[in-house]
Amino acid sequence: MSKQYVTDCDYCGEISLCQDDGAGGTTCSSCKRRQEEKTLVLEFSGTFFIAAKDVKFQSISSVLGSSEDPVINGEDWLKLSEKDRQKYILQSIAHVARDCQDINIDSLKITEEET
Ligand SMILES: [Zn+2]
Repeated sequence: MSKQYVTDCDYCGEISLCQDDGAGGTTCSSCKRRQEEKTLVLEFSGTFFIAAKDVKFQSISSVLGSSEDPVINGEDWLKLSEKDRQKYILQSIAHVARDCQDINIDSLKITEEET
């Protein structure tokens, strides 16, 4: 355990119990933990199969602050013309992944984030 002392952390600026960061500065325990935390990068390509009613689309103009019908489901989206479909974007790929009936993964690559 390295020596600790109360000073201002070089990373967040908070006055707290800090230790040497190994680079001539000081770091608090939560900033040190953040630096040591590893992040995985998952790159994949694949296909989701999901009931149209379970997909939410968000109007692009509502993203920009307008108040017209901001969110529709996939059944409503299917009724739109090709041109009107372009006024909407998928609201959440994470919700599609969570709610889908099936998924085919063509490729999946997991690496550690470069820092
Ligand atoms: Zn800090």
